[in-house]
Amino acid sequence: MKWKESVKGLKAYQPGKSIDAVKKEFGLDEIVKLASNENPLGCSPKVTAYLQQLTTNFALYPDGYATAMREATAKHLGVENNELIFGNGSDELISIITRALLQPGTNTVMATPTFSQYKLNAMIEGAEVREIPLKERAHDLDAMLAAIDEHTAVLWICSPNNPTGGIVEDAPLQQFLAQVPSDILVVLDEAYFEYISHDQHVDTISLLKEYNNIIILRTFSKAYGLAAFRVGYGIANADLIAKLDPVRGPFNNTVLSQSIIPVALADQQYLAKCREVNAQGKKQYIDFCQKHHLDFYPSDTNFILFEVKMDSDLVFQELMSRGYIIRSGNALGVPSYIRVTIGTEQQNTGLLAQLEAVMTTYGVFV
Ligand SMILES: *Cc1c(COP(=O)(O)O)cnc(C)c1O
Repeated sequence: MKWKESVKGLKAYQPGKSIDAVKKEFGLDEIVKLASNENPLGCSPKVTAYLQQLTTNFALYPDGYATAMREATAKHLGVENNELIFGNGSDELISIITRALLQPGTNTVMATPTFSQYKLNAMIEGAEVREIPLKERAHDLDAMLAAIDEHTAVLWICSPNNPTGGIVEDAPLQQFLAQVPSDILVVLDEAYFEYISHDQHVDTISLLKEYNNIIILRTFSKAYGLAAFRVGYGIANADLIAKLDPVRGPFNNTVLSQSIIPVALADQQYLAKCREVNAQGKKQYIDFCQKHHLDFYPSDTNFILFEVKMDSDLVFQELMSRGYIIRSGNALGVPSYIRVTIGTEQQNTGLLAQLEAVMTTYGVFV
């Protein structure tokens, strides 16, 4: 077959073992998965109740313009309906953006480590990937600017950054945007926006008035607890959205997904509770790190990346055999660190007890 040169040798995303597979392998009854930054409290109970009384004609295609979800999201954000594009998760928007702008002969600039999908999608399109290491745990915006040339088409800013958890602060971001040529698209991926509590964070939507070359990506998968429904969205000026929209599949969000978003958005009280539980949980991890003199990355998200002072693949294996799934830093480009999704208080306590036992067994604490 005549495969694109760029696709040869690519490896599929490794989703990690399923909960059922881990149960079986280790003979465990219960598994706590703190690996994919899902909301441990689930979604708003109002969404669950709404779904139970829903009567839907499953034979019909969804609304291709996602009108109800669009109107509710636009109203919530204070933007116009035509300033939004919806994806099957923001993952799909990353691929739509890449497909629309990148091709052989172009390049794209991003941090490293950062969210892996930017690179994968760019590689599929045959574009050159320019990865700029973080500096002092933040995007090195000066080096990213220096990496731009006339063939640069897309620049990725992940704020807060996955897997490290920190934001790009307001002042450096504004200085940076002022220097990026206006024909380069800057993608601000804010998958963890709802968890940000940093005082140097600007609501980036206000930047859309000043710059025509920005798109902000957000998602219902993380704080809203709706990862199963696959809804993410992009916010940009109407011209930019109109240019991207033909690249989107016509019915890329399901009927059920579209119908629950207005319900989820209406329950901001639930979101506030989730933020509060997350802030408390984060403190459990920070306390643990401080008690044991382990380095950690300040996080404005629902996960935390911290040092384990031993092989993080081994920690991953040991914790899995004890019923906890986390992410090893090896796979994320940060060896001897692990990335843990902040769970409920009980889940965090359980995981930290097991981690302490593992680290003691391997002599980290002597
Ligand atoms: C989880 C995540 C996404 C993808 O979210 P979906 O909307 O579920 O596709 C995108 N970007 C970052 C940084 C993420 O962590």
